[in-house]
Amino acid sequence: MSIVLKIGGSNLRDADSLRQIFKLIKSYNQPVVLVVSAFNGLTDKLFEFVKQSGNNADSINDFLVELQSRYDPIMLDEVLDVFQSRLSRLENLLLGSSLIGGVPDFIEDEIVSFGERFSSLFISAYLRQQGIDIKELLPEDIGFETNGSYHNASVNFEKSAPRLQELDMSVSYVIPGFYGMSPDNKITVFGRGGSDYSAAAIAACINASSLDVWKDVDGYLSGDPVRVNNPKKIKNLSYTEAAELSYFGAKILHPRTVEPLKSLEIPIRIFNFKQSGSDPIPYTIIGPSAKADTFSMKSVTYTEDIRTLTLRGAGVGITPGILSKVTNTLEKGRVNIKSVITTQVAISLLLSSSDLDASHRMIEEMNIPGIDLIDESEELCLLAAVGEGILDQPGVAASIFTAVARENINIKFISFGASRVAIYFLVGIKDRDTALNAIHNELFCKE
Ligand code: ASP
Ligand code: MG
Repeated sequence: MSIVLKIGGSNLRDADSLRQIFKLIKSYNQPVVLVVSAFNGLTDKLFEFVKQSGNNADSINDFLVELQSRYDPIMLDEVLDVFQSRLSRLENLLLGSSLIGGVPDFIEDEIVSFGERFSSLFISAYLRQQGIDIKELLPEDIGFETNGSYHNASVNFEKSAPRLQELDMSVSYVIPGFYGMSPDNKITVFGRGGSDYSAAAIAACINASSLDVWKDVDGYLSGDPVRVNNPKKIKNLSYTEAAELSYFGAKILHPRTVEPLKSLEIPIRIFNFKQSGSDPIPYTIIGPSAKADTFSMKSVTYTEDIRTLTLRGAGVGITPGILSKVTNTLEKGRVNIKSVITTQVAISLLLSSSDLDASHRMIEEMNIPGIDLIDESEELCLLAAVGEGILDQPGVAASIFTAVARENINIKFISFGASRVAIYFLVGIKDRDTALNAIHNELFCKE
């Protein structure tokens, strides 16, 4: 059975990275499917252009020159023509957008996905030159199809799986991550960090034996090493635990990575790229092994830059239709609502701070009868404790909240029961580190 490998952008920088990938592929001793991200930082630059609505014609040339100079040290004769033709397509899209003074959705997705196609081109060519039987495969060539939603697409497995299953698996492939093709053959991306989801979807389509994700960290930890003392390594996670940890802030995997793999029980093994070459052991394995009925606390994670928008009015929480109107409008405005808490007299929406002003404006403009007041909270931090069985374990919630209370921290919202494996709550941003350490010490550092 084949193995799908994913290498993330933080490990893709220069000629050294290519040499390391070669060693890594060799160490597998079997054909593999390698899904790659863009080189470190490139996607951010492409998004910057899009954010300015294409209004930066002056800098396009500098950007392209810089891009080219980044690839010069790894340039090979055999890729020159293809590289130039991809670069000139990108140039045309950037110039075209700056001419019309905007970036339409379908152009945006094509622009931001270029980094991945450069990666797959250079990596496949280098590996071939080193004697590996490997081909570059583009989603457009293999019919890797999506539902057609720009910026946040999902894979159409019914269409894609039979096409990918036709591939000759006696050779290796490099596939650019982050995007697939809409039914009308336009590039549609899977959201930031979406190459993890691509790799997972490809692994599901070909029923791979494993998805091996090569990161620049030692797998999942019980807490963010930057903020908590003495975090422990996590050897095993269930699919749901991994999904919730990503959703609530752990930046290891794209939150949707486990989705395609769960029902097929394909494991995700997380390695550190720095350890490749020897005989690497995965730091964390995400799979079906962790049983829902045996409780063990896995990790405490957090999301910053959260604020709430609270819609107040007698009866808003029980008047049918208000929430659906609001969520529809925000969805059209591309705002992601992280969570909703309702009471009889209030509906609180948890939003990214960056979405707050626009969301406030959109809801105000709707003039919904029954909403008398819309308030904004201060800057908050969402903390989540994750572990299978957490809801059924007597005393866990109490010990978490007692640990926080001992530090005199005021908890703003609590959600208990919405997720089967997570308890989460909000505190003011200034209390972030104290609250995190209080819970982490309580759950992981007590003998
Ligand atoms: N290059 C894309 C991003 O930075 C996708 C990925 O790296 O997974 O979001
Ligand atoms: Mg990435």
